[in-house]
Amino acid sequence: MMRAPTFRYHAPKSVAEAAKILREEGPTAKPLAGGTDLVPNLKRRHQTPSVLVSLRRLDELRAVTSGGELTLGAGLNLSAVTRTGELGPARRALTIAASKVATPHIRNSATLGGNLCLDTRCNYYNQNYEWRQAIDFCKKAPGPDGTAKQEVTVGTCWVAPSSPRCWAVSSSDTAPALIALGAEVTLVSAEGERRIPLHELYHDDGMAYLTKKHDELLTAVHLPALGEGWKSTYWKLRRRGSFDFPVLGVGAAFRFEGDVVAEARVTLGAVASYPVSVPTDELLGKPLSDEAIEAFAAGAARPAKPLDNTDYHLSWRKRMCTAYIAGALKELRGDPPGLLARTAARLPIAAS
Ligand SMILES: Cc1cc2nc3c(=O)[nH]c(=O)nc-3n(C[C@H](O)[C@H](O)[C@H](O)COP(=O)(O)OP(=O)(O)OC[C@H]3O[C@@H](n4cnc5c(N)ncnc54)[C@H](O)[C@@H]3O)c2cc1C
Ligand code: SF4
Repeated sequence: MMRAPTFRYHAPKSVAEAAKILREEGPTAKPLAGGTDLVPNLKRRHQTPSVLVSLRRLDELRAVTSGGELTLGAGLNLSAVTRTGELGPARRALTIAASKVATPHIRNSATLGGNLCLDTRCNYYNQNYEWRQAIDFCKKAPGPDGTAKQEVTVGTCWVAPSSPRCWAVSSSDTAPALIALGAEVTLVSAEGERRIPLHELYHDDGMAYLTKKHDELLTAVHLPALGEGWKSTYWKLRRRGSFDFPVLGVGAAFRFEGDVVAEARVTLGAVASYPVSVPTDELLGKPLSDEAIEAFAAGAARPAKPLDNTDYHLSWRKRMCTAYIAGALKELRGDPPGLLARTAARLPIAAS
């Protein structure tokens, strides 16, 4: 049995108290939400915080407020997010993404904030301590003394040995969906609070993947009002439809005037160390014809640089980017999604 290392535990009753503890305890303290990512990571010694600050008793993190915009508390579990009626059909991308995270059991504990702060993933990292010890660890993983090598560029990257950086993959399902929906987040520390566009929460770096400071809590996710003509969706590629992490996620939100595209946002997940938003100018001011979709999908897949550190053959994953982007857009224009997904999944597994 794998056991978690020793830690001290706080269970504050307010966000202000939690922020104060995080400030006083310093960088070796970590927030604990549902624990569905952090606890396995503790057991495998990916992280060894000396202090855990539980967010379970913070009722304020489970609030839902709607007016012009919709605000979801970061402590809502993902099952609750899928049941949030205020999301409505225009923000369906979030409902789909949340409903495709892990299993129903895990979604009952896993929170929205934890999903947005999810650790980046890599085949050489998401292994137990002994497995990683056998390959002499890597840049991102803790060394034998339990000290994360995150501050210094030492150790090998087994995915790209000559690379000075870590390429672990951003694997959150809700992040690409929420970025496509134009979400912002509130971060609270003992010093005060700030609100930033969600895409600014992420760095293109497998180790320092979040821009938030160690003592900042993510407290809320804000979704802008989406008026008439908005539609959104989320497409997820994974080996087992029942609970695997994404090896590709496509979040797309479009505003149509009639059949003409007036606004468009597309964000890819699990293709880099951060959620990648792609320019959509070429789609604006015209209907989504087959030709327009195919040309856009081929270009939009270009920034996706799958490496050999997640599931599936990387050249097939690259081909699936094009297929899934096209599938998501065809769904938004009204094509039947079931048929599209089946067609995409039949692409041959061959290097292109
Ligand atoms: C079998 C299995 C399958 C999974 N499949 C998927 C999947 O398909 N898609 C997917 O996206 N995830 C998946 N996960 C990962 C995980 O369950 C989810 O990402 C979940 O939403 C994480 O939320 P949590 O509340 O459990 O976070 P925790 O594990 O509590 O925390 C995760 C990280 O976020 C930090 N954190 C949490 N809340 C806050 C906050 N409010 N402010 C600041 N920092 C915070 C923690 O310190 C920690 O670093 C899977 C996990 C398992 C075990
Ligand atoms: S990408 Fe390289 S450094 Fe990062 S976790 Fe994987 S092997 Fe380690």
